[in-house]
Amino acid sequence: MRFTRFGLTTLRDTPSEAEIVSHQLMLKAGLIRRLASGLFTWMPLGLRVLRKVERIVREEMDRAGALEVVMPAVQPAELWRETGRWDKYGHLLLRMTDRHDRDFCFGPTHEEVITDIARRELRSYKQLPVNFYQVQVKFRDEIRPRFGVMRAREFMMKDAYSFDTDQAGLEESYRKMHNAYVAIFERLGLGFRVVDADSGEIGGSRSQEFMVLADSGEDGIAWCDEDNYASNVETAATSPREGITPAPTRDLEKISTPNCKTIENLVAFLDITAEQTLKTLIVDGDDGPIALVLRGDHELNAIKADRIPGVAEPLTMAGPATIQKATGSVPGYAGPIGLDIPIFYDHATAAMSDFVIGANEADMHYVGVNFGRDVDVPETVDLRNVIEGDPTPGGKGTLKIARGIEVGHIFQLGTVYSESMNATVQDKDGKDATMAMGCYGIGVTRIVGAAIEQNHDEKGIIWPEPLAPFDVILVPINMHRSDTVREASEALYEELQSMGLDVLFDDRDARPGVKFADAELIGIPHRLVVSERGLEAGELEYRHRRDDESRMMKRDDALDLVKDSSLS
Ligand code: ATP
Ligand code: MG
Repeated sequence: MRFTRFGLTTLRDTPSEAEIVSHQLMLKAGLIRRLASGLFTWMPLGLRVLRKVERIVREEMDRAGALEVVMPAVQPAELWRETGRWDKYGHLLLRMTDRHDRDFCFGPTHEEVITDIARRELRSYKQLPVNFYQVQVKFRDEIRPRFGVMRAREFMMKDAYSFDTDQAGLEESYRKMHNAYVAIFERLGLGFRVVDADSGEIGGSRSQEFMVLADSGEDGIAWCDEDNYASNVETAATSPREGITPAPTRDLEKISTPNCKTIENLVAFLDITAEQTLKTLIVDGDDGPIALVLRGDHELNAIKADRIPGVAEPLTMAGPATIQKATGSVPGYAGPIGLDIPIFYDHATAAMSDFVIGANEADMHYVGVNFGRDVDVPETVDLRNVIEGDPTPGGKGTLKIARGIEVGHIFQLGTVYSESMNATVQDKDGKDATMAMGCYGIGVTRIVGAAIEQNHDEKGIIWPEPLAPFDVILVPINMHRSDTVREASEALYEELQSMGLDVLFDDRDARPGVKFADAELIGIPHRLVVSERGLEAGELEYRHRRDDESRMMKRDDALDLVKDSSLS
């Protein structure tokens, strides 16, 4: 591809709307352009990368025996009413009506559509197992679209759905997808981890996420190499602490704490640490508010909270009026003493003594509080997010925490959808069997952003070779003034292409500095510079995007190097 024919424009300045580096670089390098919130056009350069991701995904899905289909992006509401998700899916679902006033949605996922196909097409166990997949546009009306293509509203997903006669079959289909995903992310050249994930309301069934490791990741990953544990922080369990709670050393005292609505203000005012405080969070419940009590420095885990009987789903913090009614005080001063609503304590609170709590009175706290003496010894539950240093659930090691970007999610659905939509096949004995389903998603467009998060420097993108839009960039120096350089460059351009390489030929009449800066920004793995001086010695200047310095090489050696590394 000739640069002058590619319509590529790079930006010099960092776009201010982009919060993270991958979004900035995708805009700067001209991979994407924004249309509206969470909506992006893939420009020619970006599309080349996207196609490379898709190709690897398709090859591995095909290899695993899955069958490609394309389902409609727009789906009739009736199907969603059958599974109850028309109401449950909430505001993420973009709903619309057609000219006959019939309800439709723009598909955020395709379980309903594929289960409808399955119940029509699959009659006998002999047709199973089968796994259908597609690479297609989804729409989710995200609350906070951000980070460019990483959390967009319209995005490309590879979604696959397996059908088996029974759970054992499903486990085998799931295992195959797990292995296909490992192969995909390895081929893409990304650093990733497979973690246990929340199985949501479906319960009990297995679910794992594929996380690309990156500091900007929205997900927390708890892991431990000593016992091979890895889980999304959302689901990592904390263990009830053992050992004796220290005996009280202080008397209970109610003190004035003006303007200490937050733990932060409270610890600053009392000159203590957050570990010495308890926070009491009031949440909505099915029959009135419920109090959740955690150590001040710990974070409430919404998924765990939702599992507590009576807590409203989705988890909702109580409003000021409810808090006032339940505690008799403005928000920020709730505490368990004298609180007459159901109270749930996190495991970690049991080990505390001489702690500080809200007094259910504005600007007042209790200090020197102790279980057994001032507050009943609580039954504890798992309420919080794990933190670095917590013991692993297996108990053999301690947890480390890393950040990750969810690029894939595999899930044993079981019979939830097939049951509600009545998708059965005849089993070996001629009886109706409800099919066991699995679903498997990959965020195809998100992968591009995630790859850049993991592979960049201050100058730009450093593509993993399997994703690079071009294998090699050819940069002639002074081509517009030197016939020697022009002829040699044109010949080289032809030759590199005939070797099967994707070549970007920077044929612009621009200063070398401009060309080099763009080459680095765009992140093409191999750079070959053609200059008059080099040609005199039969040499090209070679530099890999990851190298610190360029080096002069014999023309053929440079070509071999590029070829071997790109086409391997
Ligand atoms: P998240 O937790 O990030 O919102 P999810 O768990 O809702 O994602 P899934 O339903 O598991 O997403 O969808 C499969 C894959 O699609 C995800 O693993 C992710 O890679 C991708 N994906 C989901 N939402 C988005 C989005 N808004 N923009 C881009 N990719 C997305
Ligand atoms: Mg997911």
